[in-house]
Amino acid sequence: MSDAPRAKKSLGQHFLKDARIARRIVDLLIIDPGDRVLEIGPGPGALTAHIMAAAPSRLLLVEKDDYWAAYHADARLTGAADCAGRPEVRTGDALDFPWESLSGPWKIISNLPYNVGSPLVWDIVSRVPELTRAVFMVQKEVAERLCASPGGREYGALSVWVQSHARVEWGFEVGPGAFAPPPKVDSAVVALTPLPSAARPEDPEALAGLLRRCFQHRRKQLQSLLRKTGTRDATAALDALGISPEARPETLSPELFQKLALALRRLC
Ligand code: SAM
Repeated sequence: MSDAPRAKKSLGQHFLKDARIARRIVDLLIIDPGDRVLEIGPGPGALTAHIMAAAPSRLLLVEKDDYWAAYHADARLTGAADCAGRPEVRTGDALDFPWESLSGPWKIISNLPYNVGSPLVWDIVSRVPELTRAVFMVQKEVAERLCASPGGREYGALSVWVQSHARVEWGFEVGPGAFAPPPKVDSAVVALTPLPSAARPEDPEALAGLLRRCFQHRRKQLQSLLRKTGTRDATAALDALGISPEARPETLSPELFQKLALALRRLC
């Protein structure tokens, strides 16, 4: 790998150099032989090596950097031919990945590039048809938003959306010294286990619309945020759910947001 290019800031390339931490991250995914695993952004392969050692039945790598995609596609460079199976490599932007096309159960893992972490977690948790588990390393601040409870400063649209689809567990923090080059911020690892379908949003679009509306102005009261819906009707919907019209969005649980989205949809 001596001819490897310099890390690209534009692609959030902070490569893990601590093999012990890489191992802990992959262990959190709990790979059983026979699992299908997708890794976003393998880069030089700090996580990939441990994933392959767990012998999943399929390993799909999605990498935007041509150099690292070619590196994994070429078994002579990675020694992949010596492992249980060859990974499949897709060169491209994970933001454009057709998540709905993943058939059968999949586990997803990534040390996510910081600039696209939140939208990718948003998409994956809601669009992969049979996600069984996901493990992500993200900026610590994003991990705190993913795990946040109602009422706190970190609780927002991302918290409600992701917790409406999955149980989120805090894994562990990782300092900048574990990466080359070191990022300016701390990172943290989270594990996601999808909720049973009966507990997930009945109308995801209605929920996404409501979240957009509510968290653009999170300090406003719900009665003012929902004014355009027809004040009296919106107030009745809030009343029926036992929500004060003066409440602020950050105080509502993911379950209440889902119920409110359905109640308001009926008014439109
Ligand atoms: N997995 C490696 C590790 O842990 O050392 C690399 C992690 S590095 C933080 C992020 C990786 O994601 C890089 O390899 C980068 O090229 C890739 N990447 C950045 N943006 C991407 C995108 N939109 N889609 C797919 N891969 C992306």
